[in-house]
Amino acid sequence: MVPDRLNRALPTPGLEGCRYRGPMADTAVTSSIITLDEQWGAHNYHPLPVVIAEAEGSWVTDVEGNRYLDFLSGYSALNFGHRHPDLVAAAHAQLDRLTLTSRAFHNDQFGAFCRELATLTGTEMVLTMNTGAEAVESAIKVARKWAYQVKGVAFDSAEIIVATNNFHGRTTTIVSFSDDPVAHDNYGPFTPGFVTVPYGDAEAVRDAIGPNTAAVLMEPIQGEAGVIVPPDGFWRDVRQACDDNDVLLISDEVQSGLARTGEIFALDHEDVRADLYTLGKALGGGIIPVSAVVGRADVLGVLTPGSHGSTFGGYPVACAVGRAVVELLSTGDFQKRSTDLGAHLHARLGELVGHGVVEVRGRGLWAGVDIDPAAKTGREVSMALRDQGVLCKETHHRTLRIAPPLVITREEIDHAVDALAAALRA
Ligand SMILES: *Cc1c(COP(=O)(O)O)cnc(C)c1O
Repeated sequence: MVPDRLNRALPTPGLEGCRYRGPMADTAVTSSIITLDEQWGAHNYHPLPVVIAEAEGSWVTDVEGNRYLDFLSGYSALNFGHRHPDLVAAAHAQLDRLTLTSRAFHNDQFGAFCRELATLTGTEMVLTMNTGAEAVESAIKVARKWAYQVKGVAFDSAEIIVATNNFHGRTTTIVSFSDDPVAHDNYGPFTPGFVTVPYGDAEAVRDAIGPNTAAVLMEPIQGEAGVIVPPDGFWRDVRQACDDNDVLLISDEVQSGLARTGEIFALDHEDVRADLYTLGKALGGGIIPVSAVVGRADVLGVLTPGSHGSTFGGYPVACAVGRAVVELLSTGDFQKRSTDLGAHLHARLGELVGHGVVEVRGRGLWAGVDIDPAAKTGREVSMALRDQGVLCKETHHRTLRIAPPLVITREEIDHAVDALAAALRA
């Protein structure tokens, strides 16, 4: 049975109410809006040609009145679906009371949010920021300061070990250690102090650790790279290498965290604890940007007044929405849903291997589907899926990243996978 809390998260008419009218022609309203985007907006994205005007739960409606099942959920920012009623209510209530104080003063939401998020995540301290990239930047700063002040690394020589094919955001420091030429090239001079090792190779991590190593920073499952799951035992071995050498382990859970894989952290599947975790995306419930670094008090404790900050980090609206997100996660219903429905999703996707699909990876309601390059590109499949009333997006040309809202139903998953099978045949 679907618990009551989740039922309230499923107000949409679902499949019966689907008003999707078949392959969409790019009509006048849609194309005039896309023209505006292209003329006035910087071209740093290549969206699918669909213009969304409304959304609820797992469903979005475009300006033409077509309805689509959202099979991407804002790269996991919409884990609780569009406009979850509890989250919208929390935002409204806070907007009517207090929006911003700055951290020059206290507000009545911040401390409660920090305590509740720390309790949910089994951590000791919370540093609030806004975007995922800011959380990662903050973790890097904290790790460096910890290296100098606690570990005793010589000033300006701290190193952080990162992985091939990583994705941690778009700031100049973060793209400095990206090996994706599109994300990296032309943005130098680059920030030094990062050492790259092959993702999933624990021996390489151990070999890369030296006296100046402050931290290992990696995604527990690489999202942008195509939902890459490292080999069994990798995280246990990395944890051991960190422990043996007084090195911090930082798990970037901006995309993988908060129930996406069936646990609060993807690392929980490995029975490994990180020293710091970065959270973002779903932490703001798809309503506002909320991010955080959570972890050990003795590590985050290196921050002192004035040494780091953000005008909006931990502002009352962020904390109110974040508290409602934490409350949704505290029952475990979403985690269970991701586990159970994820097993179904993976079983159904597995049937497509050999039928236009080469490989399926992932965990919980999260999957990377490699399209047979002899058959189609990822973009072609995304477009054909759109024509079937399902929205998702390719990453790196040949992989579809599937991350439905965790409020999706089994029937909706079947509908979407059937649509994918048809899109692959089309
Ligand atoms: C999306 C993402 C980020 C960056 O988050 P933004 O909010 O876009 O800055 C960082 N790390 C991971 C793993 C992500 O998936």
